[in-house]
Amino acid sequence: MDLLKKAIERMPKYELVLAPTPLHRLKNMEKEYDYSNIYIKRDDLTGLGPGGNKLRSLEFIIGEAISMDCDTVIAGGPEQSNFCTLTAVACAKAGIKCILVHNGEKPKSLEGNIVLNELLGVESHFIGKVDSSVRGKYEEELAERLENEGKKPYIAKKGATTGIGALGYVNAIIELVNQCKTDNIKLDSIYAPGGNGGVATGLIYGNALAGFPFKINIISVEYDKAELIKNIEETILEVEELLGLKFEHSVEDASNIIDDYRGLGWGENTTESSNEVLAFPRSEGIFIENVYNSKVLVGMKDQILKGKAEGNICYLHTGGFGSLFSQYK
Ligand SMILES: *Cc1c(COP(=O)(O)O)cnc(C)c1O
Repeated sequence: MDLLKKAIERMPKYELVLAPTPLHRLKNMEKEYDYSNIYIKRDDLTGLGPGGNKLRSLEFIIGEAISMDCDTVIAGGPEQSNFCTLTAVACAKAGIKCILVHNGEKPKSLEGNIVLNELLGVESHFIGKVDSSVRGKYEEELAERLENEGKKPYIAKKGATTGIGALGYVNAIIELVNQCKTDNIKLDSIYAPGGNGGVATGLIYGNALAGFPFKINIISVEYDKAELIKNIEETILEVEELLGLKFEHSVEDASNIIDDYRGLGWGENTTESSNEVLAFPRSEGIFIENVYNSKVLVGMKDQILKGKAEGNICYLHTGGFGSLFSQYK
């Protein structure tokens, strides 16, 4: 792990996360499932804005933008993108102008993350219902226009599923190993969501280079196993390039990718995930949103019931609190 630590300490980083985030037991779930050690890692409480996993990525993204002397950060996503709002929050703290590009229509009334973006006073462009490649092109053209005006823009790409973005969860593995040591906690197995695979990449790569302290289980909320693995493999190549350390495993061997709980994919609830959004806060007093965390919990609980969960398990809560308020009207 020393090599990994040294490599990541060389990367430009702008501190945003109140680390370590809390790690504690879910005692009500333990009782309900008659399972002895269930932990939660509270990355919903990363400590800035509404919190969430993307702040870990943004430490390295904003770090890079600052190291390149950029004065404007452009980020894109759908209206309720957690990445967009957390980029706006991070830019506010770093004193950098933030421009958000949404592939969607301007909402008639403010809700969810859009409220927070408005409170932060960011410049928001709504470019209509186009796919993310068209949005990417718009971001490039916008950056060019700004450059012509003498500005120094930085584009935060692909919702942080990039090599730079994935460094956040490489770093989180180091944090968790140290936290377990300090708090005298033994964790065997982690359950985390897989959307485009940025979080998964960081966890799987970091865990391998730390000598496999944990077993990493990724619950896909979007793609089938083959496609998610392909995304992760591509992003691992970028991380290898940045850190100069080879992964030397296959994603398949170094992790457990599960695609049984994604239903029809991103943002499409299953009956079980809709129920979980109610069950989890009613049992633990901790809210979850309905795209990522609900499906991870459904998956983890089902693995417990099927006897497939191994040892002391830990659910990684990735936040998304802001988007919760647009999911219920
Ligand atoms: C972005 C996000 C994730 C992880 O997505 P990946 O694209 O797989 O990195 C998980 N949970 C929440 C709440 C998110 O906003």
